[in-house]
Amino acid sequence: MGLLSDVEEYDIPFRKVPAGLFQDDQVLLPADERKHAVSLDRYRDPASGVQHLPYVGEENLVLYDNLSHRLAKITKDFITFVIMAELMDMNIQFLSGVGPRRAALLKSELGIETVGDLLHTYPFRYIDRSSVQKIAEIIPDQAFIQIRATVRSARLLGKKGDPVPADNVKYNLVNRLSVIVADDSGEMEVVFFKGIKWMHLRLVPGAEFIFFGKPTVFGSRINMVHPEVDAPDNAGTGVLTGVYSSTEKLKTGGVTGKVMNKLVGTALDMVLPALKDTLPDYILKEKGLVPLTFALRQIHFPTDRYSLSKATYRLKFEELFLLQLSLLKQKFIRSRSSVGIPMPKVGEAFNACYNALPYELTEAQKRVIKEIREDLMSGRQMNRLLQGDVGSGKTMVAVLSALIAVGNGCQACIMAPTEVLSQQHFANVSKYLAPTGVRVALLTGSTGVTARREIHAGLEDGSIGILIGTHALIEDTVRFKRLGLAVIDEQHRFGVDPRARLWSKGTGGAPPHILVMTATPIPRTLAMTLYGDLDVSVIDEMPPGRKPVVTRQFGENKRYALYRFMKDQIALGRQVFVVYPLIFESEKVDYQNLQRGYEAIVGEFPLPDYKVAIVHGQQTNDEKNFNMDAFAAGRADILVSTTVIEVGVDVPNASVMVIESAERFGLSQLHQLRGRVGRGSEASYCILMKGVKVSKESQRRLDLMCETEDGFVLAEEDMKMRGPGDMEGTQQSGLPISLNIASLAHDGQILSDARLYADHILDGDPDLSKPVNASLASELRKDKYLVRDYSKIS
Ligand code: ADP
Ligand code: MG
Repeated sequence: MGLLSDVEEYDIPFRKVPAGLFQDDQVLLPADERKHAVSLDRYRDPASGVQHLPYVGEENLVLYDNLSHRLAKITKDFITFVIMAELMDMNIQFLSGVGPRRAALLKSELGIETVGDLLHTYPFRYIDRSSVQKIAEIIPDQAFIQIRATVRSARLLGKKGDPVPADNVKYNLVNRLSVIVADDSGEMEVVFFKGIKWMHLRLVPGAEFIFFGKPTVFGSRINMVHPEVDAPDNAGTGVLTGVYSSTEKLKTGGVTGKVMNKLVGTALDMVLPALKDTLPDYILKEKGLVPLTFALRQIHFPTDRYSLSKATYRLKFEELFLLQLSLLKQKFIRSRSSVGIPMPKVGEAFNACYNALPYELTEAQKRVIKEIREDLMSGRQMNRLLQGDVGSGKTMVAVLSALIAVGNGCQACIMAPTEVLSQQHFANVSKYLAPTGVRVALLTGSTGVTARREIHAGLEDGSIGILIGTHALIEDTVRFKRLGLAVIDEQHRFGVDPRARLWSKGTGGAPPHILVMTATPIPRTLAMTLYGDLDVSVIDEMPPGRKPVVTRQFGENKRYALYRFMKDQIALGRQVFVVYPLIFESEKVDYQNLQRGYEAIVGEFPLPDYKVAIVHGQQTNDEKNFNMDAFAAGRADILVSTTVIEVGVDVPNASVMVIESAERFGLSQLHQLRGRVGRGSEASYCILMKGVKVSKESQRRLDLMCETEDGFVLAEEDMKMRGPGDMEGTQQSGLPISLNIASLAHDGQILSDARLYADHILDGDPDLSKPVNASLASELRKDKYLVRDYSKIS
């Protein structure tokens, strides 16, 4: 085989590698071999892109390419050759110190599969060895502290505090583990309720540990419940030692904190010398960011707090910046390519409606209508999210936008999540449209066959200008002559596909313009990410004359005071909502509560003086409508209901909202419910009835409700309390990516900055095709930043 001479000719150093190291086309080349590396590009077949390496008669050969930082393997049979993954993508199993068993653990417990995964698993906190507290100096209810103490004794206690003998322990009978630990200043108790066995075996008398936790007072003594426990020598050399998330399985499997530190150290040593920065130099300079190599080293092994903060900032910025870059890039591409139906004029219908309005539009409404007009005129498809608090007047904006479509020879539809709401929209919109002569129709699940047939015909021949309805209007049988605009109200109530289906209702090639409205204010940072490729308009001003809604929390002991208050209000001619939680439609208990509550109220507010209506999801549509109408028309004083009234229903004369078991509602739901009152000019009230057992977090929600009426403030708080993934109103869409280090709740400032900067970069290089931006383009191709096209599916 003459190929051997090729090798000699080029003097390629090679190395015999134990066959066992090859697995799934991955090998590890020790760092000291890299200096012998050659560029494999020399052997690339330009036509096929396949690399051919000379066979040199050895069993297994490995070569390292120091241009691409790749590893290569020569198979033992022939000269064909497989290229290895980048070091970051190397299977963690081949990292020195890991092996198949630990690799399996790391994968199942922490989701770590590659060296890169390991390096991007950052410590969630750091042990600051410079600040170890003396036991005698601990103040009760201090924030988290750290002590360094020796175990004196450990006792296992049963359910009643009775000691459990330590030999032959049945751990399932043990209620808690009480450990007395001491330093040279004093002693204290450390308590565990979970993971007792593991801790019991570990915390043997005489052993020294670092305990990290929050001290609490128990009786006259201070103790620490479930502190984190680290070995005192569990550290690198820095002042700050990273602590990684761990599980019992990991620890018992030998992947302790110490081992994690060691593995990360090994991985850093291997990867960093060859690591290319993900951000171009000029960005590092312009934004004052530290290089990736520095950031990765410091996030794992900080030398001091300042370096750690620089590293953290760099990694957060990078994450948010790449995310925004990806979102904005898509938006640019879409706005360049998506042709929209041009709507150059305002039209007569718009003007007729506008001139007959019973009130002046608020400045915010005017501004938003102007933004929408500009979109509609642009010749590109509009994809706009309109956020506005409950009662801010979004319906009017929807109607005027729909009339622009009609004025340009198109049709429009307004889709609402419930039958009740659709009917109300229909009633209101019909009123506004009276002066315009535009024909409007209502299509819901309960529209009869004959009416439905008529509506279908009217839509197809174009005589119906505006269609209002529920999901029913996206059914396949509904065909428009020329749908120009689709409005989706309370969009978070819908599942995933309505928007996509609306897109497809467009005729003649162009999709309709889309306006999505939501009264669940989404914090700005979240909106930027969730709807990163949508344009966002905000109505941040209420129609004039609103009085604040007085919000109070009542315990059960104030129920009679509540009834008296309701009677006073009814005597003044006002109406009252009483809402019961219905978390799952199927939950029997909730219905029983509702039913009992209804009976109690009927007992307290008897006929003929009082009339009580009830609405819930198990009624037929006729029953629901009958009851809703009775309340809306003022024939009933009290409406007892589940949350069906949450969205949109407008009864200006209702001045009291009573929310039963308020602690069971989420913040945004409470806010929505409160928004049902305060619509008229009278003073109004929201009474939060709470149960006996209220968790800390629920209590915080109720307190927040009493503190502010600003939906955006509440949304921000909600996000801080629950984390963005759980935000109400966003479950369906979910976050486009999972963030590794940045937090939408806490890093809003970095996010705004990153977004502006991403916008600026794309301005100069919309396709990221300039060589200086090559690394950005390649980062965006990674799974993490492959954001789905939310404009079509959210
Ligand atoms: P939401 O934004 O919650 O959908 P609506 O569109 O239902 O709010 O409006 C709430 C109420 O405010 C309605 O009764 C509507 O007629 C009234 N309204 C809307 N805009 C104005 C305005 N500019 N001035 C006075 N009242 C208004
Ligand atoms: Mg509304």
